[in-house]
Amino acid sequence: MTMTRGNLFILSAPSGAGKSSLIKALLEKQANIKVSVSHTTRAPRPGENNGEHYHFVNVEEFKALIEKGDFFEWAQVFENYYGTSKQAIEDQLNNGIDVFLDIDWQGARQVRELMPDVKTVFILPPSRSELEKRLNNRGQDSQEVIAGRMAEAKSESSHYNEFDYVIVNDDFNTALTELEHIVVAARLQTTAQQIRHKDLITQLLA
Ligand code: GDP
Ligand code: ADP
Ligand code: 5GP
Repeated sequence: MTMTRGNLFILSAPSGAGKSSLIKALLEKQANIKVSVSHTTRAPRPGENNGEHYHFVNVEEFKALIEKGDFFEWAQVFENYYGTSKQAIEDQLNNGIDVFLDIDWQGARQVRELMPDVKTVFILPPSRSELEKRLNNRGQDSQEVIAGRMAEAKSESSHYNEFDYVIVNDDFNTALTELEHIVVAARLQTTAQQIRHKDLITQLLA
């Protein structure tokens, strides 16, 4: 079998819909997938480690990285800057590893321009009230921050139809299985299988 380049995926959703939990669970179930660690100017939440959940930087450092051209995409979300560095994805894709980006719709637009074969997934919560409940239960943001994110949820959600796939995260395991199916189907695309099974196809068609 010949190695193929990894697939690039984007997961977007209003805050609290379950992106981080779904990606974490997916990585525990499927080999050969990594999540890209973004840079952000937001303060770390309790339990978030630098270099693991995000690379935490200040605004000056973030702007210097923009100047240097280190970002693949970046955007301002909820008054903070967030960005994916080129380094966070290229090596992995070249080594045949699938990479997930947990980024907002503005970032997704930029990535689609740069890599049209990116597979994009939008996660919807089962209701507005459940979304608010999850943000509260997560217990990591202040009431002010939660109110701000709920206020943004409608406009964030309005971008769902720019994405290839939509998953409603009501029952967690159902949503996880649906996400896994998207990853597996991408690996079976003819363009990838042609490379992976080159010798077999040559033999069969000889
Ligand atoms: P969450 O919504 O609870 O996951 O909160 P976060 O603070 O982790 O993320 C805030 C927003 O920034 C979300 O909309 C993310 O999708 C977005 N985001 C995170 N990382 C990136 C990134 O590297 N690039 C872009 N464009 N958006 C990002
Ligand atoms: P996001 O990364 O999109 O902001 P999180 O993954 O942090 O969202 O999820 C927000 C909260 O909701 C977390 O406390 C998480 O444990 C919880 N959660 C996620 N999916 C579900 C689900 N299907 N049912 C109930 N709670 C969920
Ligand atoms: P949080 O502050 O809750 O970690 O993230 C808030 C939002 O920022 C989420 O919707 C998340 O997907 C988005 N986000 C995180 N990192 C990036 C990034 O690197 N680029 C973009 N465009 N959005 C990001």
